[in-house]
Amino acid sequence: MTHPNDPTRRDLLIGATAGAAALSAPARISAATPRHVIVVGGGFGGSTAAKYLRLWGEPSLRVTIIDPKPVHISCVMSNLVLSRTLSLGALRFPHAGLASYGVTFVKDTVIGVDPAAMTVELKSGAMLSCDKLVLAGGISFVKPQGWNQRTAPHAWIAGGQTMQLRNMIEAMPDHGTYIQTIPPSPYRCPPGPYERACTVADILGAKPGARVILLDANDGIQASKATFTRAFNGLYRGKIEYRSGAELVAVDAAAGEVHTSLGVFRGDVLNIIPPHRASVVVRRSGAVPKGSHWAPVDPLSYASTVQGMKNVHIIGDSQGTGQPKSGHMANAQAKVCADAIVRLLAGQRVDGISRVRSVTTNSACYSPITHDKAAWLTAAFAYDETTRQMRLVPASLAESGSWSRESYAEMFDWANNLWTDTFR
Ligand SMILES: Cc1cc2nc3c(=O)[nH]c(=O)nc-3n(C[C@H](O)[C@H](O)[C@H](O)COP(=O)(O)OP(=O)(O)OC[C@H]3O[C@@H](n4cnc5c(N)ncnc54)[C@H](O)[C@@H]3O)c2cc1C
Repeated sequence: MTHPNDPTRRDLLIGATAGAAALSAPARISAATPRHVIVVGGGFGGSTAAKYLRLWGEPSLRVTIIDPKPVHISCVMSNLVLSRTLSLGALRFPHAGLASYGVTFVKDTVIGVDPAAMTVELKSGAMLSCDKLVLAGGISFVKPQGWNQRTAPHAWIAGGQTMQLRNMIEAMPDHGTYIQTIPPSPYRCPPGPYERACTVADILGAKPGARVILLDANDGIQASKATFTRAFNGLYRGKIEYRSGAELVAVDAAAGEVHTSLGVFRGDVLNIIPPHRASVVVRRSGAVPKGSHWAPVDPLSYASTVQGMKNVHIIGDSQGTGQPKSGHMANAQAKVCADAIVRLLAGQRVDGISRVRSVTTNSACYSPITHDKAAWLTAAFAYDETTRQMRLVPASLAESGSWSRESYAEMFDWANNLWTDTFR
């Protein structure tokens, strides 16, 4: 394993643009009529795609982001709002920030997609048409029996839910119990739920006898295993009780009960993170086949592989390439997608040998383990010409294995870099 101070590793971790940097901007080719790309969702995937479409595309290329919220609130670093290290305001990124690149923002919700007519229907009643459509709607949840997000918040889409969970943790009594569930993989941010348990255990250090019960639907820790095993068995021994194979069955918040395949657990605060699937807009578009939770795409362009949907591209958490669902990864995929769309609109191929060999993505996550120490995890992926899928580059998979003040400081550099590359 390489040390995080190794320049190569450090560049990969902190440089959000590293993965897709190998993709140089395609040659601009004049198009007779101005083309229009609509990007649905202005989060990590959508904002990056819109910005790079304007940077790399023909100057006349029209790019429109549609999102119901005028400001995106970053999930990345949102666990630090629970500990009052950051305010929610520090995680707010107005979509108007991309106006300087020529991106148009429309505040609305897409309620329908017609891939044949290449139109989207908005909640306001308007209908917009485009040449290419990018769907970057994030995730939606599979609702567990009896679950209500108001009484048992997920706080897995940052915003009001994050504040609600923070207030509930702060109001917890001494000797109280906080229960958190982890959905089956794949889910958004593989180390995120374990990181949250550590953050909450650190906060609860101020409350005598208070503890965390972490109920994981998976067979074991899904990311940064060495780091979290050390944290649960050492630093937080007696504070965090970790149970694997705990499949969520039902929730009764009034009784403070979480029903799982391992039995019933009772707590004062229930943080239920339900199973994930592609966002509603992606599912409604027809891009998710029956029986699947995610949208199959060609990783050379992120175009849907569902018949009749080749002009619809899906990036970020909703796509189903098997790469980790993270903001860093959504940013990298968005650049591959933007590069492909610019080429396709210019009548070029996206599967030329030199391009195919330059299609790489990467992901990094920093996890606060205490109020001043963090751990990190990184992985890179390359296009495999045989399977036509993205495959993990084995040598790139690394985790810090422990936590340090140095990594905590680096975490802010990394996040600022990612936010700047995405939203500013
Ligand atoms: C606690 C936590 C910590 C995390 N930490 C990290 C980390 O350290 N590193 C990392 O890389 N990732 C991290 N992540 C994961 C990261 O936040 C997600 O993977 C990332 O946000 C996915 O980007 P996306 O574009 O797919 O979706 P999002 O960023 O969620 O954006 C989706 C957007 O689509 C919009 N939308 C949805 N439906 C519609 C519709 N019908 N019409 C119009 N707009 C719509 C939404 O309003 C939203 O703005 C973390 C996540 C959590 C919860």
